Amino acid sequence: MVTHVSGAAEDAALHALAERWLQVVAVAGFVPGRRTRFVLALREMLRELLTAAATEPFDAEPVRRVGARLVELRMADPQVLGASVRLLTDHLPALRDGEAGVARDRMLLVLEQLINGFGAALRQAAMHAGEDLNRSLRVTWEVEKAVLEIQLQHARLHDAVTHLPNRTFLREQLRSIIATGGAGRRFGLCLLRIDDFDDLNDALGHRLGDEVLEAIGWRLGDLVRAWTGEDRGPHGLWTGSDRCLLAHLGGERFVLVVTGTHGAEDMVKLAEQARQAVHTVALPAVDGYELRVRVSAGIVEGAVTARAEPDDWLRDVHLALIWAQKDHRDWAVHDDARARVDIARHRLVAAMPAALERGEFEPYFQPLVSLGGPRIIGLEALVRWPHPTLGVIGPEEFIGPAEQTGLIRPLGHAVLEKACRLGSLWRSRGHDLLISVNLSPWQLDDPGLVASVADVLRRTGLPAGRLQLEITESAAVDSHRGILGELAEFGIRLALDDFGTGQASLASLSRLPVRMVKLAAPLVADLDQPDNAAAVAIVHRTIELCHDLGCTVTAEGIETERQYARLRDLGCDYGQGFRFGRPVSAASISGLLKGGRLWNGEPPPRG
Ligand code: C2E
Ligand code: CA
Ligand code: CA
Repeated sequence: MVTHVSGAAEDAALHALAERWLQVVAVAGFVPGRRTRFVLALREMLRELLTAAATEPFDAEPVRRVGARLVELRMADPQVLGASVRLLTDHLPALRDGEAGVARDRMLLVLEQLINGFGAALRQAAMHAGEDLNRSLRVTWEVEKAVLEIQLQHARLHDAVTHLPNRTFLREQLRSIIATGGAGRRFGLCLLRIDDFDDLNDALGHRLGDEVLEAIGWRLGDLVRAWTGEDRGPHGLWTGSDRCLLAHLGGERFVLVVTGTHGAEDMVKLAEQARQAVHTVALPAVDGYELRVRVSAGIVEGAVTARAEPDDWLRDVHLALIWAQKDHRDWAVHDDARARVDIARHRLVAAMPAALERGEFEPYFQPLVSLGGPRIIGLEALVRWPHPTLGVIGPEEFIGPAEQTGLIRPLGHAVLEKACRLGSLWRSRGHDLLISVNLSPWQLDDPGLVASVADVLRRTGLPAGRLQLEITESAAVDSHRGILGELAEFGIRLALDDFGTGQASLASLSRLPVRMVKLAAPLVADLDQPDNAAAVAIVHRTIELCHDLGCTVTAEGIETERQYARLRDLGCDYGQGFRFGRPVSAASISGLLKGGRLWNGEPPPRG
């Protein structure tokens, strides 16, 4: 049920609007008979329109009669009608309680019928008066123009495919919720995004894709009706109510707005139900496979006054949706703390190109140690960002974003160049160390990679045989075989990083020119428990297998004596980890090398 202002307040409001109506049409050239009586007539018509707008189900007849009455009152001049329609469009919705956007939707329907009634009465009057064809045509055209205007208004506020309220409508609605909110009132938004909608669209074709969107709109509409206990709207199409609004932002995104919530749990419940509702949409099978619609949801809920602008709410609900997708969760609720972290990260990412240009990224180095010796055989370069204000930032913070933005190529290149230059410098001082540099899969996609590595080696003077490039299992795919082969032919050593964490990599191991396998730290961590026979067996077999394939083995993440001793006994060739030394700056390495203290077989001092 929709309510409207009642009693004396309503009378006053209607009267004021009637006065205004008269003013507006007077400007358009209309001259009434007796002013007071005329205003009363207008006021009664306004009341009828308002009642019709609030009555369920909607009945067009009384509205059309008001249209006919306008003709009786000699308001048939096209300009006068135009001015009337504009006034009613602008001001009538405000006379109703609830959210203006929703009221407006019904009001457009009222106006459409008003003009229909007006047009019918006018045509009849013209016929009676035997008016000429020209005038009759002109009037018809004016009426159609007015209807068109209303349809345009409708189109402005609704999605063309689902006919649901669109983003503009939603914004207006949010604005009104915020403006009329008051202290203590809460509401929530749930942004639903159909997973892989583009794929679905491609698989089904766009026409069917649109039908799917429509079906989803219906399911969500049903859900909202069940949620609010409201009946279907006038077109059989639900648009919204005081408590709940369904909007379609176009494409794969729908939004549910609920007022009067008590906490995020309310929205989570709605999101769960929405996911289930959408999941039941039946899709045609493609190649014998039954397709299902799945959605992810972002949720934001809070005091109406918590955010000043509709776009602030929309931004935050978007962010929550991104989290849901990133975390592979069905839904995520916006929270300020995480948003702050995200924003800080975005700032960091935004600052990266300039930092790169200024050469701020530095490799730190961690010793690679021969377990049998024991002695140092090389250094792994691990990038750090000594940030001017935030301190030293580790790669976990920025390698991912760099890969997403494509910055990883220049970044990787900078690390490679600095590491090779330092390796060459230390070599010139008598320390013949293997320099091991991490390579991102994205760098392997660069057709100019081999040439640029060769160029770096030439310029820095590091022999190819002293450079090792570490690739992860995801990079060791067949599509990279060519480029990896070229690097190996050049004399550069390749190491397979993080072995034992990813998908089956044994096959790739036998096909690729890999010289060293790096056992992932989690496997090594398992060796620390006193009697973990299974872990020992796994590591043992893995080492044997790698040896059979002609690879040496380096164990990563060695922190304890027990891990060290076990790995040595299992025949592991090399090791790396805090037991031997943490990654430190190039200056520290230089100092340690000079003093012969880089790694002398003893555990590093604690702390
Ligand atoms: P990774 O290649 O597996 O590097 C080993 C990581 O383990 C390093 O973290 C190192 O500090 C840490 N680590 C070494 N020993 C121990 C230990 O005993 N215990 C524990 N708990 N951790 C240990 P870091 O430096 O934060 O690097 C993280 C990852 O970032 C690296 O993993 C690598 O995948 C990536 N990365 C680092 N530098 C570069 C680079 O220049 N380019 C690319 N593409 N990736 C890099
Ligand atoms: Ca590595
Ligand atoms: Ca690793």
